[in-house]
Amino acid sequence: MNATASYTIAVRALCEFTAKQGDLDLRFTPTPTAQEGIEGHAIVTSRRDDGYEREVGLSGHFGPLHVRGRADGYDPRQNQLEEIKTYRGDLSRQPANHRILHWAQLKVYGHLLCSARELPAVRLALVYFDIGTQKETVLTEEADAASLRAFFEDQCGRFVAWAEQELAHRAARDEQLRSLRFPHAGFRPGQRELAEAMYKASARGCSLLAQAPTGIGKSIGSIFPMLKASAEHGLDKIFFLAAKTSGRSMALGAVETIKRSAPLLPLRALELAAKSTACENPDKACHGESCPLAQGFYDRLPDARAAALQQPMLDRASVREVALAHQVCPYYLQSELVRWADVVVGDYNYYFDISAMLYSLTQMNGWKVGVLADEAHNMVSRARKMYSAEMDHVRLRVLRKTAPDALHKPLDRVHRQWSALEKAQEAEYASHTELPEKFMATLQTACTEIGDYMAEHPAWFDADILDFYFNALLFGRLAESFGEHSLFDIEKSDGGRGAAAGRVNSLLCIRNILPAPFLKQRFEAAHAVALFSATLSPWNYYADTLGMPADTAWVDVASPFDAQQLQVHIASHISTRYQHRERSLAPIAALMGEQYQRQPGNYLAFFSSFDYMEKAADLFAARHPDVPLWRQERRMDETARDAFLARFHEGGEGIGFAVLGGSFGEGIDLPGDRLIGAFIATLGLPQINPVNEQIKARMETAFGAGYDYTYLYPGLQKVVQAAGRVIRTTSDRGTVHLIDDRFGRPEVQALLPAWWQVGAP
Ligand code: SF4
Repeated sequence: MNATASYTIAVRALCEFTAKQGDLDLRFTPTPTAQEGIEGHAIVTSRRDDGYEREVGLSGHFGPLHVRGRADGYDPRQNQLEEIKTYRGDLSRQPANHRILHWAQLKVYGHLLCSARELPAVRLALVYFDIGTQKETVLTEEADAASLRAFFEDQCGRFVAWAEQELAHRAARDEQLRSLRFPHAGFRPGQRELAEAMYKASARGCSLLAQAPTGIGKSIGSIFPMLKASAEHGLDKIFFLAAKTSGRSMALGAVETIKRSAPLLPLRALELAAKSTACENPDKACHGESCPLAQGFYDRLPDARAAALQQPMLDRASVREVALAHQVCPYYLQSELVRWADVVVGDYNYYFDISAMLYSLTQMNGWKVGVLADEAHNMVSRARKMYSAEMDHVRLRVLRKTAPDALHKPLDRVHRQWSALEKAQEAEYASHTELPEKFMATLQTACTEIGDYMAEHPAWFDADILDFYFNALLFGRLAESFGEHSLFDIEKSDGGRGAAAGRVNSLLCIRNILPAPFLKQRFEAAHAVALFSATLSPWNYYADTLGMPADTAWVDVASPFDAQQLQVHIASHISTRYQHRERSLAPIAALMGEQYQRQPGNYLAFFSSFDYMEKAADLFAARHPDVPLWRQERRMDETARDAFLARFHEGGEGIGFAVLGGSFGEGIDLPGDRLIGAFIATLGLPQINPVNEQIKARMETAFGAGYDYTYLYPGLQKVVQAAGRVIRTTSDRGTVHLIDDRFGRPEVQALLPAWWQVGAP
């Protein structure tokens, strides 16, 4: 939306607002994949005559509204305007409100076409294309220009009051943002530099990688300049994305601080919760016959939407409260509220993953957005997961026994093809550059049959089959774009994961190793994207692997900390390489003991694995029984994690043993005496295994930096994050021991923060 007197809206968005009614019903979706949809459209339009016009751009006005969109096709000889919808399954089971919506879109296009070409009438054709059979079902209706105009005006008339309210909101928001002042008395050291870099990135409309140390107030230092930019550069929305709940809470806290300092600022900030946490009825399916909060959802939505926008903050709790007061689903209410929010706070996946809601809404509505990604050192591993899918044979074996009879055959066929793959592979692990065609074909057929079964049995619900179905759909989607950026691998095991003893089991994985080709479009779709973290060095590793644009700016915000605050020692007489681990335990225990005797207090000690950590802790306990110690455990829940951290209290003494890259290696804040030192007995290098070796080979081919991009940079990033727990404020003092001779190498030291002064043990 532009901050002018006119309000631009896409045809689809207009109709979704005015013409959607009745139940929320996701049974007819997910239907075809995006790729199938595109191909379906191409097949239909390729069947048309030579003069057929495709993707006809149309627009029109009504009061302050500027309505625009692209009709799928127009045949001037027959004077027929077509809206093409791809689907799977039984068309007669399509919910009536879906059909009403499709007609509404087509009628609006009909009016825009008649008006643009001065046509007295047009034939409207709703073309339903069955992806499975490739057959078209065409529903037609003759419509004259006058009735189409009336329909268009009726739709616009029902939206215009809302649009005027939104225009007023936007004008008031931007006016307040222009005069908005930083909510604190001054910027912290480094915070202004970060804020300026953010603002400049928006002014240039480019991406930014910002390495900014902990403790400078990154949440407010990024949201504040982007809010200023919203008014000055016409941003419709800001998306603040974070890997963890703590990052999202900090962002919401920053928005609240800004709002408190500017009581007249009408800023709508929305928190996105995952479906698994927002769903009120996890044992039900998302349609009116199963879930009462889906029944009549669209009929009650207007009141719920209006009530929600009166809330000062749209965090999870208030969205839930409004949703339940209006008896609508909280999860789908929050999805609706994205359209009307100024700041949206959520996980990375809402913008970056394969079916990201924020990205598709941005595309559909032509929003101008600023995207902020916090703790962005997590982006490479998170993005790889978003574009990977894994299937476990054990789960399929179980489903074959529990699935309804009608699904046995398709599942059996998948099972047979899967077993054939297992038989054909002798090694435990093998990766492939091509997908197994027969297996993929049977998997796709199984998906179609499960989809059809669900359409035919609306009351049926089986969480395990649904899980398998969605996973298989993702597998199919990733297969469509399979290429150099991914591997297909099979990992065999005997038994395990619930399989009967002696039976071969396997995991099949489409494994993304280079997310750049997928994320590239996400960066391009935003006006500006800023990725920030305390550890984003070297920047080219992140820019290359994430696919950031060539004009991406880079800022390395100087640390507010002084070299005198942190003693950094390298224990170059110790090797923590796998083959030297046993031998390393005694000197590590001695080093830790000496440091502790010199300066008792709270320490963290990091190791590369639980096994190594346990052995080191056992020996240390035996040699220094007077020093309190506590250990990280596998699969700690929140209470156990809190208990571990609670031992680090002011004036406390002892050593917490932990695993590098785990819960305590980043994202925890232990200022002052709560943590006075860390021992890091590993370079954090990922394990050498067949998968990582494949990644290394691909990284070598793509960037000529196989080892660095696979092992060295990800490892050192974890080391610096862990060491970063020690100094949190400008008054903190502490010690870090980097335990391994390789920390002395120049290429490793080059990856340590510039403000550290590395000394001898
Ligand atoms: S409450 Fe749960 S089951 Fe019901 S519509 Fe919402 S997400 Fe679906």
